Amino acid sequence: MSEHAINVQNLYRYFGQLQAVNGISFQIPHGSVCGFVGANGAGKTTTMRILASLDYPTMGVAEICGINVVHHPEEVRRLIGWMPDHFGNYEHMTVLEYLDFYARAFGYSGKERKERIAEVMDFTDLGPLADRFSNKLSKGMTQRLCLGRALLHDPQVLIMDEPAAGLDPKARVELKHLIRVLAQEGKTIFISSHILSELGEMCDSLLFVNAGRIVHHGDSESLKQGTDIDGGMLYDVQVLGDPQSLSDWCVTTPDIEFLESRKHGGRVRIEASDPERAAEMLAKMIRGGLQVTDFHREQRNLEDAFIDMLGRIDRGETAQPVATPKPLPAFTPPSSN
Ligand code: ATP
Repeated sequence: MSEHAINVQNLYRYFGQLQAVNGISFQIPHGSVCGFVGANGAGKTTTMRILASLDYPTMGVAEICGINVVHHPEEVRRLIGWMPDHFGNYEHMTVLEYLDFYARAFGYSGKERKERIAEVMDFTDLGPLADRFSNKLSKGMTQRLCLGRALLHDPQVLIMDEPAAGLDPKARVELKHLIRVLAQEGKTIFISSHILSELGEMCDSLLFVNAGRIVHHGDSESLKQGTDIDGGMLYDVQVLGDPQSLSDWCVTTPDIEFLESRKHGGRVRIEASDPERAAEMLAKMIRGGLQVTDFHREQRNLEDAFIDMLGRIDRGETAQPVATPKPLPAFTPPSSN
């Protein structure tokens, strides 16, 4: 067995002058769930498409279970299940016909094909929808169908691009459950999402990408600790009257930063680590005329950690991996024969 389920070394993808993926390297062990996180345009989909053998890197190596995605795309496609962020389906094709179509495309026939489809429909709970037209499903049902399609050939590695986008809370919980079950079965799952709290719960590791470069790879706890050097304590503050009065007050007060508006006030960061300073800040708020009705400490979450990290990168406080092997050598995709 190869050492890693996914191995990426110095991967680049340029679109003209645009450096979408800029020298990233990472490894994901077999049987683990890795969350891929980054702002819009950070390079997640581009990286995932290369891993799914749907795009060529400008330079670098990408391997699935030790197999190079550029040199052996057919073998790679047998090993991966790919769930794209946008999913095409066909008019007048039922859920059953849709899965049957793809099962045939994967080379299944006869009894084996029927069994694979039944297994996938059972796992994704698509049975009751078997006769529904595949283009008339809700977003959650459509995602289950897309997952079902990706699982038909029982892949070892699942690459899922924003599978939870647009799902309601119940559908998100269901999807999370399915991902956990797949992980327990030993599949390797590489999943991108903007919902950091959910990723933190289900992933063994989180890979953060910014402007095409990896800025952090570790578990969610190490990420939270890793950003504690920023210090500060987070508080939820509620006030009577106009909630805007809190943010206005914070703007003119040192050692406090207004982070996020809430219904009756907001979330603030007090630039200190001792509770005495927080008590002083509360007293100052009251002296400043704010009618504080609630003031309580909050834990850092992954969103805080991520935003802190991006802030430090913007301020040049965190070195990003340098990636400048230029000029790029000409890259010729292998022939498809
Ligand atoms: P999002 O969270 O919004 O899906 P992302 O992290 O998946 O973003 P990518 O889709 O990988 O980001 O895009 C990275 C950058 O590459 C973006 O600036 C995007 O506009 C650009 N890009 C992606 N595909 C192409 C393409 N085919 N041609 C030109 N530019 C592209």
